[in-house]
Amino acid sequence: MAGIMVVFDFDKTIIEVDSDNWVVDELGATDLFNELLPTMPWNSLMERMMKEMHAKGKTIEEIKDVLKKVPIHPRVVPAIKTAHSLGCDLRIVSDANMFFIETILDHLGIRNCFSEINSNPSYVNGEGRLIISPYVDFLTSPHGCNLCPPNMCKGMIIERIRANEGKKKMIYLGDGVGDFCPSLKLKEGDFMMPRKDFPAWKLICENRTLLKAEIFEWIGGTKLEQILIGLIEKIKIEEANNGVQLLSAVDCKFEKIPMVAHEAFPPPLRVHH
Ligand SMILES: [Mg+2]
Ligand SMILES: [Zn+2]
Repeated sequence: MAGIMVVFDFDKTIIEVDSDNWVVDELGATDLFNELLPTMPWNSLMERMMKEMHAKGKTIEEIKDVLKKVPIHPRVVPAIKTAHSLGCDLRIVSDANMFFIETILDHLGIRNCFSEINSNPSYVNGEGRLIISPYVDFLTSPHGCNLCPPNMCKGMIIERIRANEGKKKMIYLGDGVGDFCPSLKLKEGDFMMPRKDFPAWKLICENRTLLKAEIFEWIGGTKLEQILIGLIEKIKIEEANNGVQLLSAVDCKFEKIPMVAHEAFPPPLRVHH
């Protein structure tokens, strides 16, 4: 059996909010964040915000306490636990940072469900300040993908994972602009689950013919759980039947985004940052 890999975005996919915004807002630094946002890349700004927070006396414990209060839909943790118990290889690809993600996953008790977390490196230094670095060092070795922010191309991460785990079917869940590039790297037989009415979903709808994966949109954690577990069960049944495609309950039950008949030629790729 080839197996199934489920790749999750983190912000607004596993948790309901953006963890960077959540921490900045909860620590009362929203105005400074908004003031500096036009002047530097997002990831560099978060590093700068951590420096500012530390200078104002905010401790790592305070940041952890804020992270532990992050809102999450009640069906997301059960969905992750079920996917894990069904034998799927679960991974995270996120433009947040390792410290935020691991703190939240530990708090939720699901850290051990994930075999790999790909995010911006971060650590607490000797002075108790959180240092956040870009996943890709864009000053010395830019990734060269013009769809993605300078510090991370999720598509490249997907390609690297694919090179190591080629036979596994992939299910990718995400909401943001940064989840569009990896959706283009998915292959026939894979599944893309964009969050409906969010930027990745809009880009996919505008550029539908560029995707090889089947697309299932979801709204909220209840649908996320139903569709994800439905897809996993469908793939497992098909694998047990040596790849014979079954008339699937999933296809009938859920909001699959169809290929539009008039799209004979792929439209130009449109991405708005
Ligand atoms: Mg996201
Ligand atoms: Zn990219």
